[in-house]
Amino acid sequence: MPVAGRQGPLPRRVWSSLDQLSESDEFLSWADREFPEGASEFSDEVGRRDFLRVMGAALAMAGLGACSRPPQIKIVPYVGQPEEIKPDRPLHFATAMALEGFATGLLVRSNEGRPTKVDGNPLHPASLGATGAFEQAAVLQLYDPDRSRTVLHERNIETTGALFDAVLREMQVQRKEQGKRFRLLSGRITSPTLTQQINALRALLPAMKWHQWEAFPRWSFYQGAALALGQAAEPEYRLEKADVIVSLDYDFLSLAPDRLRLIKDFADRRRFDHDDFRHPNTLFVAEPMLSITGSVAQVRLPIAAGEIKQLTQNLAVRLGVMGELGQVPQSRDSQWLDKAADALGRNVGRGLVLVGPGQSPETHALVHAINQKLGNAGQTVIYREPATTQTPDPLGSLHELVNDLDSGAADAVLILGGNPVFTAPADFKLGDKLHRTRFALYLGMYEDETTACCRWHVPELHFLESWSDARAVHGQTSIIQPLIAPLYGGISVHQLLAAFLGQPTAVDYDIVREYWRQHSNWPDFEKQWRQALNDGVIADTASAEIGPALVGAADPVARSTGLGSELQPPGFEIIFAPDPTLWDGQFANNAWLQELPKPFSKVTWGNPAIISPRAAQALRVKNGDLIRIQHGGARLDIPVWIQPGQAERSITLHLGNGRAKAGRVGNGVGVNTFVLRSSANLWFWEGAEVERLDRNFPLALTHLQHSLQGRDIIRALTLEELLQGKKPAGRAPEPAGDETLYPPAQLNTAPYQWGMVINLTACVGCAACVIACQSENNIPSVGAHEVARGRAMHWIRIDQYFEGDPANPDVYHQPVPCMHCEIAPCELVCPVEATLHSSDGLNQQIYNRCVGTRYCSNNCPYKVRRFNFLQYSDTRTPSSQLVWNPQVTVRSRGVMEKCTYCVQRIRTTQIQAQEENRPIRDGEITPACAQACPADAIVFGDIADPKSRVSRLKAAQLNYSMLGELNTRPRTTYLARVQWDEQATRLRPVTS
Ligand code: SF4
Repeated sequence: MPVAGRQGPLPRRVWSSLDQLSESDEFLSWADREFPEGASEFSDEVGRRDFLRVMGAALAMAGLGACSRPPQIKIVPYVGQPEEIKPDRPLHFATAMALEGFATGLLVRSNEGRPTKVDGNPLHPASLGATGAFEQAAVLQLYDPDRSRTVLHERNIETTGALFDAVLREMQVQRKEQGKRFRLLSGRITSPTLTQQINALRALLPAMKWHQWEAFPRWSFYQGAALALGQAAEPEYRLEKADVIVSLDYDFLSLAPDRLRLIKDFADRRRFDHDDFRHPNTLFVAEPMLSITGSVAQVRLPIAAGEIKQLTQNLAVRLGVMGELGQVPQSRDSQWLDKAADALGRNVGRGLVLVGPGQSPETHALVHAINQKLGNAGQTVIYREPATTQTPDPLGSLHELVNDLDSGAADAVLILGGNPVFTAPADFKLGDKLHRTRFALYLGMYEDETTACCRWHVPELHFLESWSDARAVHGQTSIIQPLIAPLYGGISVHQLLAAFLGQPTAVDYDIVREYWRQHSNWPDFEKQWRQALNDGVIADTASAEIGPALVGAADPVARSTGLGSELQPPGFEIIFAPDPTLWDGQFANNAWLQELPKPFSKVTWGNPAIISPRAAQALRVKNGDLIRIQHGGARLDIPVWIQPGQAERSITLHLGNGRAKAGRVGNGVGVNTFVLRSSANLWFWEGAEVERLDRNFPLALTHLQHSLQGRDIIRALTLEELLQGKKPAGRAPEPAGDETLYPPAQLNTAPYQWGMVINLTACVGCAACVIACQSENNIPSVGAHEVARGRAMHWIRIDQYFEGDPANPDVYHQPVPCMHCEIAPCELVCPVEATLHSSDGLNQQIYNRCVGTRYCSNNCPYKVRRFNFLQYSDTRTPSSQLVWNPQVTVRSRGVMEKCTYCVQRIRTTQIQAQEENRPIRDGEITPACAQACPADAIVFGDIADPKSRVSRLKAAQLNYSMLGELNTRPRTTYLARVQWDEQATRLRPVTS
């Protein structure tokens, strides 16, 4: 396998896709077209249908609207204005969102009672002020008109009163048998209040069983720790202390429950913009599929997931952890191993080895032993008691439930969320078992696949509508407080449990508050309750630390891994992974997340099988061609995407797509890959038979549409070049300052001059900024067909470029918003002056002046302008309008739009500063993209102030302008990517 680690000087040839690399006809055709196909109307019925579906309920309720006028809006003032609410001053509330049980702290903006924007809570340790795409998109899910609204019994609408009667009757039946035939099925639970309620239920029904299932279990973490430490534990990685990081099949920057904190700590060690910067960390990654984490590695190894165990053993041998146990089979990947072992050995106590959830508990135990041996335990990784209530084997737990339902040992089951019928291993046939169950009650936010198999369905409240509590992965606890009354009815999980406990009239606020009154030991409860709500996290609630001294000796750990080569069967390896934007399918009805381009492929609205260029050659397929994957009796037809960096014989299937009952947005989008996932092969399996089908499925991707045709747009320096004082100069020189007929000094006359810097070394390509911008600026989704025509509306995009061998290339991420050129080509060609310059340096778009000639987009060298070919914004569904930011105009058909640097935030702050008679402070204005970014890669501020952070970055050695040779003088500039190899930790100090 080739080993990446870029050597030698830049620049080189970078490419955005294999099509570009090979200069295929498809690519050249795209690149030649200045504008995407079509001008204004749908030319086919399929495309129209697709768009109508994305528009959600609007057109179902109100007829066709694609060719409508801008909506007529009546403005109705308050009769009596509430004192605390000023229309231009939103309120912010702290709350938390749990994904797979683990909380991330949030601050949610409320405009006159409507939650409109989610951001991170700086006080919360799993957020540190940042958010990911899932958190950003939560507000759209809140208003989703497809959410379940009524209690259903045998598919018929039923009252809540009838539900509670049925619950009380069932409890009378169950109590006679002490719950012997009663089962509870939940996801991972960290809520202290819910745990107490479940314990109360178990006290009433001592013979009941509680099962837990998650599509992506952390069992190998807990069991691996139990093997090595003698008890289940949650590792807490301290990347800020790690000089060398070795990741074995773990995309920790995307998948870890505390990924936002990890990205921040990771990026802080490779920022190159602090005066006190010492030296960067070095990342080694071995993985089957190019991941976000792998894309920023210094030394990456594409390797099948099934070979990771042997690779870990070989690493352990090289580090002397398994030496005395005899020889393990030599890995083919000795070059990567030598480098990783050497770097770890040179950085004792400053290295860290991580392994992913798909690897076995024994491999996890071995990694614990390696970290112990190298003195990393207690330094770069500590261990805490798990924040979860229990840590059972989820697979075994679900299997037991299925067997009990099958045998009749259980005849009543209460399911708390999670849509387990969709996510359970296919061979369990959970849906069939639930169909036959006498009393199956499912609490869920949608009438989904699990609803279809249960006698009772209860609509569940969204977390922004109900009270609860939850713990972060390392235990820190938050009170989840609602921001809005329930929109569609429904009840909370606490209310439902209370009904089973004989308190059907209890409300979630009282339940949660009472728990904390009884268990908090707060001397002044009222004051500290308010403090907890205000802060969004309760102080001193982290889980107890487990001392590294508990780590067992290497020998028993190593023995438990079992030595010997595992014979790899012929055929392909199939890997199951969470979808980067839909997770396990729970976000499938969220149009923002469906339309967020997946990393690297830039595919939207779907989940092609990811295959390597070599595999594509062997199968004779190109992007979009269908293949058939067969295993046992199951088979799946799915289009392919050829991914540079994919391990040769590994095929990645993203789960969570192909939902049959997601809602109008998500139904039938993509392919349901869960059908191939069995209990024996939860994460990967070997020996798949794959054949090519003679059919092609058009993928909706944004991939080729923004090619900048080989110009010098992405720049990089090696660490050596940086230390030598070199600058990231482009091939074409930038013109001198006076080479213009439009001197900026005469245009930019305001006291503040706004600008932005994007750090290409810190950016990891997570795309949180894309969704944050969409949420803040009322950017519509357009649907798969429109995306395929090049009409995606995102105001900021993440371009990705590759360099080197397609089998294992280097990767570059480049966020591209509007450059706000001082001499803007778009402004010169607009016939109606709809795009023009503000005196503080913003390139503005006057929507009601725009007549849609699109000359500006034609003349924009950066291709960052977006045109509303149709009435994309849903102006007819009442609940969909609630998500809009009232400070931003909702654009109509025929209007050009683009990034404004979040001008609404600039003006609000200016007004506030004026009212308080003070200057605007540096860092006081943060555009949505910068606010969300976990890597702190985007910095915004006043470039007229030489002391501002943005000015200092613009003066840095690494700063460059994209296409600066065009003399556009962009206000958005970049800090060039810095590259180093595994030897870099010997270099210090480095300052910019
Ligand atoms: Fe993620 Fe955007 Fe920040 Fe890059 S700039 S790390 S893509 S949020």
